[in-house]
Amino acid sequence: MTTYLNTSNGQSVGSDKTFASINPATGETLGNVPISSRQQVADAIAAARAAQPAWAARPDAERKALMMKVAEIIKANDAYLADWVTREQGKPLGGVGPDQVPGARFEVWGCEVWTQVPASLDMPMEVAFEDETRRDEVHRKPYGVIAAIAPWNWPLLIAIWQIIPSIRAGNTVVIKPSEYTSIGTLEMVRLISEALPKGVVNTVSGPGEVGSWLVSDPGINKVMFTGSARTGAKVAEAAAKNVVPVTLELGGNDAAIMLPDADPKAMAMGLFWGAFINMGQTCAAAKRLYVPESLFEPTVQALKELAQAMPMGNGLEEGMVMGPIQNKMQYDKVVDLVESAKAQGGNVVCGGTPRGGAGYFYPLTLVTGLKDGDRLVDEEQFGPVLPIIRYRDVEEAIASANRLDVGLGASVWSTDVEKAKQVASRIQAGTVWINQHGMIHPMVPFGGVKGSGYGVEFGLDGLKAVTQPQVISIKK
Ligand code: NDP
Repeated sequence: MTTYLNTSNGQSVGSDKTFASINPATGETLGNVPISSRQQVADAIAAARAAQPAWAARPDAERKALMMKVAEIIKANDAYLADWVTREQGKPLGGVGPDQVPGARFEVWGCEVWTQVPASLDMPMEVAFEDETRRDEVHRKPYGVIAAIAPWNWPLLIAIWQIIPSIRAGNTVVIKPSEYTSIGTLEMVRLISEALPKGVVNTVSGPGEVGSWLVSDPGINKVMFTGSARTGAKVAEAAAKNVVPVTLELGGNDAAIMLPDADPKAMAMGLFWGAFINMGQTCAAAKRLYVPESLFEPTVQALKELAQAMPMGNGLEEGMVMGPIQNKMQYDKVVDLVESAKAQGGNVVCGGTPRGGAGYFYPLTLVTGLKDGDRLVDEEQFGPVLPIIRYRDVEEAIASANRLDVGLGASVWSTDVEKAKQVASRIQAGTVWINQHGMIHPMVPFGGVKGSGYGVEFGLDGLKAVTQPQVISIKK
């Protein structure tokens, strides 16, 4: 069995201790992953610290060119990386490009695009104030060393979201992937590191404890975290002890609201993918759908037809659209929430019973008959289950969307965009999509409000988030 290695200071690094990475579709062991020691975490941070001044001092055009080279490496290895995403994370290979079934090839294509876009963005100096007595310039400076903690749902893409803006801005990075999906990330970093000076991007791997060593180290200057609220709070606490800022992307429980003038048939496909992209294991997926009485039956019917038509299986087989749930912890959570929905009076429209056999497969499940306060509505399922909730008037639906303590995304569906915008502006979420859900873009800032975290990623705002302002104030 191959042991995959970390990249630290440009070297491949193993460890005395390893653990096995498992294919969630088959249960087979894919390879071994090093459990980094505390010393190895410190070494990776030291390498990043040593590399950072020279990296930041490089002419901007050189950093840009090297990052375009990183995008080329991702493209040249797209089949290899997509294969790892499917085998380790579970999402089927799917198609390439924005209009295709969003599987592993889509994820790797996203890595390429989310590298090219920050590489092409500039952060010019801004003049904050100028008159005959003074001139005040705001320059953007890198933080130094960024610690990145990535989750298991979009393992390569989220790693890229953390790594690329950071290095574009002159920081260096130490990243720890989730223990559920380490190999793909270790391999991607090994490959892209060939284009970068040693120490610019480093990896460590292992369980959550390794992540806690990383984020609490005084050699770290900023933390980027994507994952659960519970772990996010621990990470923020550890970073606060060193007065280090954190970007927290903590998922949510996105509401999708259909307005009474929505068109269930025409919108069903958008709603379906908004909820079930990556088997629902997506931070900004629609996790509860509010539908007016008048549209309830046609909406449920249209979604049921789509849910039952999607082939589910081992994602390495071409034509598969849905894969397994990524890990046992998440699978158990989904089973538990569906069982609680049944006990709380929910009607299972389709799915609702584990498929059995090898792998963590759970059928696409629609549940009606629930109300706010029921567990499947209030708790983030992060899986292939969607509660569809009836509402009587729009005010009630807006109140439902806002009543939880999270606010990452939301969506409003209507044939009248102006009306939808009015509703959207009253929803407490970092992004409210109209007639689409979860449609992130590399130029558009993305982040949560309330318990979904703070700070933004993507676009110029995302780039600024990995820098700090320095004012140069000149007396005339
Ligand atoms: P976690 O938040 O525990 O994991 C996210 C990352 O944090 C992983 O890399 C994990 O490593 C790491 N980690 C764990 N403990 C620490 C620590 N003390 N210090 C630093 N890093 C740490 O999420 P889970 O995998 O447990 O998933 C639980 C729930 O989180 C899901 O059910 C889902 O609701 C939500 N989630 C949200 C995501 C999002 O996109 N916002 C993504 C994934 C999950 P390791 O995996 O090795 O433990």
